[in-house]
Amino acid sequence: GSRYRGLRVLVAGAGVSGRSAAEALLAVGAAVTVTDASADRLAALASLQAQGAELVPGLDEPPEGTDLVVTSPGWRTDAPLLAASAAAGVEVIGEVELAWWLDQEKSEGPSTWLAVTGTNGKTTTVTMLESVLRAAGVDVVACGNVGLPVVDAVRAGNRVLAVELSSFQLHWQRALRPEAAVVLNLADDHLDWHGSLESYGAAKGKIFAGNEVAVANADDEWSSRLAAGSGRSRVSFTLGEPGRGQLGVSGSDLLDRAFGEDVVLAAVSDVHPGGPHNLANALAAAALARAHGVPPEAVAEGLRAFQPGAHRSVVVAESAGVSYVDDSKATNPHAADAALRAHERVVWIAGGLLKGADVDQLVADNADRIAAAVLIGRDRAEFSTALGRHAPDVPVREVGSGDDAGMLEAVRLAHDFARPGTVVLLAPAAASMDMFTDYAHRGRAFAAAVTSVLAENSAIA
Ligand code: ADP
Repeated sequence: GSRYRGLRVLVAGAGVSGRSAAEALLAVGAAVTVTDASADRLAALASLQAQGAELVPGLDEPPEGTDLVVTSPGWRTDAPLLAASAAAGVEVIGEVELAWWLDQEKSEGPSTWLAVTGTNGKTTTVTMLESVLRAAGVDVVACGNVGLPVVDAVRAGNRVLAVELSSFQLHWQRALRPEAAVVLNLADDHLDWHGSLESYGAAKGKIFAGNEVAVANADDEWSSRLAAGSGRSRVSFTLGEPGRGQLGVSGSDLLDRAFGEDVVLAAVSDVHPGGPHNLANALAAAALARAHGVPPEAVAEGLRAFQPGAHRSVVVAESAGVSYVDDSKATNPHAADAALRAHERVVWIAGGLLKGADVDQLVADNADRIAAAVLIGRDRAEFSTALGRHAPDVPVREVGSGDDAGMLEAVRLAHDFARPGTVVLLAPAAASMDMFTDYAHRGRAFAAAVTSVLAENSAIA
């Protein structure tokens, strides 16, 4: 029987992972209640009532007799329900912890977990890893923050799970023991949620608890620090020439000096989309795959076969020598820095919700690349202040109105600034929720605006 059989479990949050958690718990015989602040979101789970789940909107303390709370990653630790649960001595875990334990209970034995966290590059890295493992014939699925809840992946029964973990998910983690894990990088994002870089780092560092191989980014101070503190067998990667125990770049090759003697894994040109940050992601994926015993040929094949995700450095149009690039997924300054560095000359569309992050350094470091800037969203004043300080000669326009109309206006302005050889780059360095449903909506609005503006101009010409 399952350790959850007969337990009274409260699922906090009726989103994607909440639904999966509730379904999995019902399947192993737990008594399940689901709560959410929004009655609408809860109503989407009405079908679970037939299986015995209770749906109760707006709980701010656990019902009498609750044994366990499973929380959604978006919930703050100080949310009244979670605080009340902790005060009442009720254990609170996340969906990933639940998935871990359900995995241990599987009759065919647990799957192997390979785990990825970091501020940026997680989805790219787990999907590269999935592609590489598939090229090696491994039965693998990418899951976690990338979209498929880990609970669902566990129930589907793939032998290897390439798990993307956000710091929110790691915060609630206790038992996780991946075979190998990587912290890609750490920059100030989500500081509003975690309170400080130290507690954000502490959450990320949990990924190294108990795994066999800790993979660090030698070029990232925080990643190296967290791995060093883990006491695990350590491997690292660098964009420079690799030393012993490292993967890195040597001339036009990705070289492995950690899991073999100078093994060429792939060519730099096998990695796409381009840019140094994607090379780093490829090296991280290669390190995890090699830790799992994958041969070098599969690394090259998997990287070549890799299909990049939407809104991550995607060229949506090219016209009159100008490329229009959608990197809407650059939702924080660290990601936007990577996006900007991949180009020489950009008309930069930026702005949105900064979530407490600072853009001064970002603008200072990239001032030479910015030909012009068009600012959107709530926190655009912070961008214009930084541009005024570090790039006083760069023309800047601001767009006041929100959503798709605002994006159309922004792309019109950017189009007028663009000269042959420049890239019109949407890399907002900020979250999208002030103007759009999410970064995908923002990216689609950009692509649609580019299509309209290019059509307007070809009509004029
Ligand atoms: P995540 O899943 O961590 O949000 P993604 O793989 O979706 O990361 O990439 C998000 C954005 O972050 C990309 O669009 C790109 O702008 C930037 N990025 C990707 N990889 C890196 C990296 N290794 N370092 C810095 N920025 C990166």
